[in-house]
Amino acid sequence: MNIILLGPPGAGKGTQAHHLVETRDMIQLSTGDMLREAKDSGSEMGRIVADVMARGDLVTDEIVIGLIRERLQGEKRGGFIFDGFPRTLAQADALADLLEEQDETLDAVIELRVDDEALVERITARSTCGACGEVYNDITKPWPADGKCVKCGSTDIRRRADDTADALRNRLMEYYKKTSPLIGYYYAHGQLTTVDGLGEIEAVQTAIEGALDREGSGA
Ligand code: AMP
Repeated sequence: MNIILLGPPGAGKGTQAHHLVETRDMIQLSTGDMLREAKDSGSEMGRIVADVMARGDLVTDEIVIGLIRERLQGEKRGGFIFDGFPRTLAQADALADLLEEQDETLDAVIELRVDDEALVERITARSTCGACGEVYNDITKPWPADGKCVKCGSTDIRRRADDTADALRNRLMEYYKKTSPLIGYYYAHGQLTTVDGLGEIEAVQTAIEGALDREGSGA
């Protein structure tokens, strides 16, 4: 089963993707993570995208489509979770072509709906474990007092350089201008399921699982 998690920055796509990786042996394909890795490794592509990402703008379609193309040719396990991709209509069309080339289908698009005020609160409180990617929130899920990640024991707590008020404003604007039209696009394709992303993490998980089970049973 291949699915897209669609939603603005801070909607909880990464958190929900991690859960699906654990429970369904799916593979998370986060273009944001791939780009951050490229940046940290100091590669040429990393240097090209660094400023664009720091501003909160989108990198070119060509770059992210190339990253996804490469990963789709690898192992497939329980299927792919596209997290933060596609973000433009051109990327959505490219994804459809890439899946077809691999004889794969897109089985569901889950939109995580969250209001803007909640997003700003979530993002400015967000941190992640540099070793395993576990996501924390200063208020709802703080980094443990002993300084060790609950999942892997690492002490490498990180905050993203683009989780600042200015970059966030830009990222939200990019989302509404370029990515939110995908909601209509997938609705028109009969593939969209909207989930309330404001609930507790477990409630959102349950809603997503329900949507995927319905999809899997053909209901
Ligand atoms: P994310 O971790 O998904 O919030 O992505 C972080 C940043 O990476 C974004 O603000 C963009 O600059 C860039 N990025 C990630 N995915 C894409 C994409 N599909 N298209 C264009 N830019 C992307």
